[in-house]
Amino acid sequence: MNQAFILLPDDVSFILSTLSVHGHTAYIVGGCVRDCVMQKTPEDWDICTSAKPQETKEAFSDFRTIDTGLSHGTVTVIVRKKPYEITTYRIDGDYQDNRRPERVTFISDLAKDLSRRDFTVNAMAYNESQGLVDLFGGMRDIENRRIRTVGDAGERFLEDALRILRALRFASTLGFAIDPATARAIHENKSLLQTIAKERIQAEFSKLLVAPGAHTVLREFYDVFFEIIPGLPSDAGLFNQNFHAIACAKHDLEVRLALLLYNIAELNAEKTDFPAERSAEIAKTVLKSLRYENKVVSTVATLILHHDTPIAPTGACVKKWLHTLGETRFKKLLLVRRALSSSPKNENLLEELAQTEQCMQEILNKNDCFSLQTLAIGGNDLLALGLAGKDVGNMLDHLLELVIAEKIPNKEEKLLKTAVEILNRTNKSKK
Ligand code: ATP
Ligand code: MG
Repeated sequence: MNQAFILLPDDVSFILSTLSVHGHTAYIVGGCVRDCVMQKTPEDWDICTSAKPQETKEAFSDFRTIDTGLSHGTVTVIVRKKPYEITTYRIDGDYQDNRRPERVTFISDLAKDLSRRDFTVNAMAYNESQGLVDLFGGMRDIENRRIRTVGDAGERFLEDALRILRALRFASTLGFAIDPATARAIHENKSLLQTIAKERIQAEFSKLLVAPGAHTVLREFYDVFFEIIPGLPSDAGLFNQNFHAIACAKHDLEVRLALLLYNIAELNAEKTDFPAERSAEIAKTVLKSLRYENKVVSTVATLILHHDTPIAPTGACVKKWLHTLGETRFKKLLLVRRALSSSPKNENLLEELAQTEQCMQEILNKNDCFSLQTLAIGGNDLLALGLAGKDVGNMLDHLLELVIAEKIPNKEEKLLKTAVEILNRTNKSKK
């Protein structure tokens, strides 16, 4: 029995012992074991068992269960309002087109279940009576901070090419290096990724990009990203600035996607008078092809479009930006600019950025008005003045503009007075 000791949460311990009382074997497995031995708190606890799905349901007949994926052997059990996925030991059916198989075979042998898993660090199991089951050197690879496939890397990538990207994802999230034989097979087999659904690629790529090791992995395995992201230039050297900016940036998906693509038009040597606009356009096409949702696509395009538009660090200017982009996107824009100017050469830019950030913080702290929602009057107030239809919206927009420009205060009385003045003026000029 391996000496590693993992303190299981009560519910997990209860699930394992319930399955055991019903005559089955059961372990925690995969990511949660890896996280525990690395002293990290797992996000979820995956359980594997010799019990077939129906037997799992019988063992938990007093609990609510959900048929999460019966054909793949997964039943979710709800214990104290929390869901736990319990999956029957299985081996995968035949792999076709380098994708995960539709059919699986249930087995009673944990060792075989572990051998179908992707990397040694993900192929360990644990329970309180057997301790750690580590058949492929997962512990050693964790100690050496290494990602290595279970079995021959080339064969494992041929079975399921998404594992190529998963290897890079774990290298980035865990900050591990990739074992040389696995790395070689990644480079050799990268074209198999063409067969993988874009949605699956996007999910792994996003996790990779927001993780601490993103810049290292992007640099070292650029040829793989060139394969999956259309429109990238073939020369990784061109991307040095982008990688550096990503290394300096917050772990935010939209910010990092913008930093990856902000100058893509120039990197592709496109001749245009509006490089930021063109890069934003290319980024939209690229991200749509990777099936990113519209909100992500449009936010990234906006960040790229304005990555170097001048922003004066004044109340009026910052409020205008907050109004146009919204608070969340404006904050992301500042993060993009901070990452892009993070070099001592840019001391002046950084100083100005710090002033802009401070200015924004003051506006937010004081709850200053920069949107219709916080304008001190609304449509009904203007209806009461006799305005109707489109004129109401137009007047509100106009008043908001004056408030944002700090020409009038956001006070009900002053706003109404200004509205009346404007009305009188327009009525006069009509006569
Ligand atoms: P995370 O904490 O990021 O969720 P994880 O290790 O739990 O990491 P998942 O994608 O949730 O990763 O997968 C759960 C487990 O299933 C993995 O640890 C691995 O053992 C196995 N696995 C997942 N995908 C594959 C795959 N494509 N090929 C082989 N095994 C896989
Ligand atoms: Mg997981």
